[in-house]
Amino acid sequence: AEPAPALAVPQAGDPALTLLERVGTADPTSLDDYRAHGGYTALRRAFALGPAGVIREVTDAGLVGRGGAAFPTGRKWQATAAQPDHPHYLVCNADESEPGTFKDRVLMEGDPYALVEAMTIAAYATGAHKGYLYLRGEYPRALTRLTHAIAQARNRGLLGDDVLGQGYAFDIEIRRGAGAYICGEETALFNSIEGYRGEPRSKPPFPVEKGLFGKPTVENNVETLVNVLPILTMGAPAYAAIGTAASTGPKLYCVSGSVDRPGVYELPFGATLGELLTLAQVRAGLRAVLLGGAAGGFVRPDELDIPLTFEGTRQAGTTLGSGVVMAFDDTVPLPRLLLRIAEFFRDESCGQCVPCRVGTVRQEEALRRIADRTGAAAAGDIDLLREVGRAMRDASICGLGQTAWNAVESAIDRLGAYE
Ligand code: NAD
Ligand code: SF4
Repeated sequence: AEPAPALAVPQAGDPALTLLERVGTADPTSLDDYRAHGGYTALRRAFALGPAGVIREVTDAGLVGRGGAAFPTGRKWQATAAQPDHPHYLVCNADESEPGTFKDRVLMEGDPYALVEAMTIAAYATGAHKGYLYLRGEYPRALTRLTHAIAQARNRGLLGDDVLGQGYAFDIEIRRGAGAYICGEETALFNSIEGYRGEPRSKPPFPVEKGLFGKPTVENNVETLVNVLPILTMGAPAYAAIGTAASTGPKLYCVSGSVDRPGVYELPFGATLGELLTLAQVRAGLRAVLLGGAAGGFVRPDELDIPLTFEGTRQAGTTLGSGVVMAFDDTVPLPRLLLRIAEFFRDESCGQCVPCRVGTVRQEEALRRIADRTGAAAAGDIDLLREVGRAMRDASICGLGQTAWNAVESAIDRLGAYE
């Protein structure tokens, strides 16, 4: 397929950037240019610190997962490193599919060597010698860039049997997804790599103990891994000083919808939603903002002072998720939008468990009746939606079913979508 045009990074070139520092300024096809822009200093520091030292830095930095769940990365790495069973695996989750999420794509297309370097560090710290990069199938440009970056790193001794002459062996294999949202769920992703249907496994056991091929596995999102580079180059205390005490470091946001400057933005944790939307030049007539994607929730235009931190969004009864910020103006018909979200979940449910397989269908049916203003009265359907939503949240095996009602619930309760 023909690669889509590159995505916008409106802040490109701003010296204040950390994660997006090289995107749009360094040549993503040149290892030499990556090194000229500071590449591979973090890996050298990692070798100087040793595996336990690297895990200490990541823990002290307060890094938490950027895929959406915000689990402490240092704890995950420590738990895997401590497993007596071998081999250990590293899996980079690059199956970015949450509607409205495109930050990992920008990192992979614009700074592919950074991900290769960061994966090498994560593997070294956790005792893995093989890394899988599970890439969303619809990202052809990222595939080309990463394939080239991995081959070049291998040719230059930065991957392979003796990385940087340190006697440590590590290599990366890319696996492409085939368009299923559920394969971004970590255990469905493992099944997909192993050649099985992309269906989630029950947790626990967690992947740190039994993951890919039943072996201890660290699974991290692209943005999470790329954060390891500034942690090692600036040191944990300097990194932890960015943001707030509970949400440290820089964060990427995917801003789309009713704004004049859509794209990926980087801000330290703690900026408000309003500040971000001002940067993106939000248009007049704002009706709602979807935070965290289809699995997230809506907020109102009078709630733009919500601080963009994990604790701040939680306190406000919403979620930061994977950093989606979708602005909708008052020309958007909310019932149609909610129906579209419900169709998405019904379509992407893997069908393994009843609450989600049936619940996503019932949810869509009720929303369609409301949107079409046919059949049962809206009030009865809203009661039904609540009941189905509760069952999906409480009884689904994985995050897809557990979150399939979030956006609809927030639209009813926060936006008064059907009043
Ligand atoms: P989760 O909370 O179950 O787990 C988060 C991570 O922590 C996992 O890697 C899990 O293995 C690990 N973990 C949790 N408890 C652990 C323990 N006790 N010991 C060791 N490891 C432990 O969440 P999840 O289902 O992996 O992810 C849900 C999130 O994914 C949602 O927030 C959603 O926003 C996000 N999401 C993102 C995308 C995207 O494209 N980026 C797509 C869909 C969903
Ligand atoms: Fe599959 Fe949905 Fe159950 Fe997850 S919650 S295992 S997607 S049916």
